[in-house]
Amino acid sequence: MARYTDAVCRLCRRAGVKLFLKGERCYTPRCAVDKRRKPPGTQTLRRRRTSDWGVQLREKQKARQIYGVMEKQFRKYFAEAQRRPGMTGLHLLQLLEERLDNVAYRLNFADSRSQARQIVRHGHIMVNGRKVDIPSYRVKVDDVVGWKESSRETGIYALMTEDIPRRPLPTWLSLDVEHMAGRVVSAPEPDEIDTGIDVRLVVEHYSR
Ligand code: SF4
Repeated sequence: MARYTDAVCRLCRRAGVKLFLKGERCYTPRCAVDKRRKPPGTQTLRRRRTSDWGVQLREKQKARQIYGVMEKQFRKYFAEAQRRPGMTGLHLLQLLEERLDNVAYRLNFADSRSQARQIVRHGHIMVNGRKVDIPSYRVKVDDVVGWKESSRETGIYALMTEDIPRRPLPTWLSLDVEHMAGRVVSAPEPDEIDTGIDVRLVVEHYSR
């Protein structure tokens, strides 16, 4: 477990930005990116110039790492986004946001997407009253995402629902705190996707 923990912070350092892969720790001074950031004016210039391809590749990897998606699946999302009319990049982001693990994270049921993935995999989450343990399950408008009744007795439920919501909720989701269930109100709004991904670079990467 410890080795895995170290590795995710290394992903952020390699990307040069915070990818928020470790929940609460990412917002504290213990964040590895913040600790290593030198004060303005003291940075040493990098000699090596990254090629356009390298920049695009890095952005694509960043997107994959943020949503915890493997390359093969990410390509499938891109292919589906391309088939849809309109802006491919926008559709790609929407497809990623509509994953059940991401929705559980957005609803504040977990502190990170990886934690949300684990909660889904362990069968704690229901969609429209039925258990769904597939993190990539795609939610639709009007779907209701909530905790399984028996999971409400667990320590993880008590921990995750304390002080909820801890982060702002996007407008495309609503949360009934009393019943600890969220509803998908609309398709994800692009201007509310705060992942900092330059999706144009991702599209360019796959369009070469
Ligand atoms: Fe680690 Fe989170 Fe900081 Fe990334 S943002 S380096 S995952 S603590």
